[in-house]
Amino acid sequence: MPSNPLLHFITKVINLEDIKVINYDFITDDEIVIEVENKLKVGQCPQCGNTTDKIHQNHWYTVRDIPLSDYQVLLKVNRRQLRCTRCRKVFSESLDFIKTRRTYTKRLAMKVIKEVLETNVESAAIRNRMTASEVETLLKEQEADLLKEKTPQLKKLGIDEITQLKGGKNYAAVLVDLETRKPIALLEKRNKAVIAEYLSSLGSEVLNQIEEVSIDLWIPYKSLIQEMLPNAQVVADRFHVMKQINQELDQRRKQEKTAAVKIKNRQEREEKLAGLTHSKYPLLKKKESLNDEEKAKIHSLQKVAPELGEMYRNKEEIRDIFESQITSDEALYKFLEWTETAYKFFPKSCRTIKTAK
Ligand SMILES: [Zn+2]
Repeated sequence: MPSNPLLHFITKVINLEDIKVINYDFITDDEIVIEVENKLKVGQCPQCGNTTDKIHQNHWYTVRDIPLSDYQVLLKVNRRQLRCTRCRKVFSESLDFIKTRRTYTKRLAMKVIKEVLETNVESAAIRNRMTASEVETLLKEQEADLLKEKTPQLKKLGIDEITQLKGGKNYAAVLVDLETRKPIALLEKRNKAVIAEYLSSLGSEVLNQIEEVSIDLWIPYKSLIQEMLPNAQVVADRFHVMKQINQELDQRRKQEKTAAVKIKNRQEREEKLAGLTHSKYPLLKKKESLNDEEKAKIHSLQKVAPELGEMYRNKEEIRDIFESQITSDEALYKFLEWTETAYKFFPKSCRTIKTAK
């Protein structure tokens, strides 16, 4: 049995409420099993409300948790069955961090969904050492779990899409509470009928209180949203556009660098490379966040690669439009204006913006 200070330390690190680590074991080079125990000894009988600590049976099982550094974490959990001393009912204690019958913790589920949103099912699977079909099972189960949860506080709603896996289950729309950043629903399709059905299920009180809906620019259900959420302002999903713009900007930076390496004249080559080196993060950052060194970097880069400098200015211009407090009609006009000048550098991003109007 490992020493107590170490167990205490791991308890702190895994940071699950009311949970104490009682043992651990490295089962492979990169996998650790952590045995945990509920600090609360008593459970409440679901039938009569009586509290009891009388154990009917121990029930050990293993669930997957979020990784610790490079270690894959398996939690060995005892979900005790208790027997009510008043009405004799046998029941399983409830554990906050894991839903009954699930093989993963709630926080792992949230992490996977977030990563699926940012990338796709396959990458999320690799990052969490799951198979794609395990991730899809998780999404399926979360879909059911999330639908049971109520969202009375919802004010800012995001509708997002999941990049679909070829031949896999067609998970398509994810609805997110933008204030808590938590997914509130996973829908298998992102067509109008499915979205409308889900929104109706929220009830008119919730629908009326929603102030803002953020959607992917290319998802064509703006009119539906306006109809069903009378008080919501529809905002273009800035996140997606900025992501694409930054990708195009970074691609150009790499091309410039590749070309610079091939310059025959040594002095010219070295000057150009000096201007381009370490420019990745200053280019992606917003103007206001640049420190003096980074500002100087942008300045010298503009000298050796004027077109890349122009792209940086274009990127900052569209970010200004997103951040300004203007109506969606004014914004649309400005976006279109922007696409006129930026098309030669940002063809993909411009197409995204144009299909949105
Ligand atoms: Zn009871």
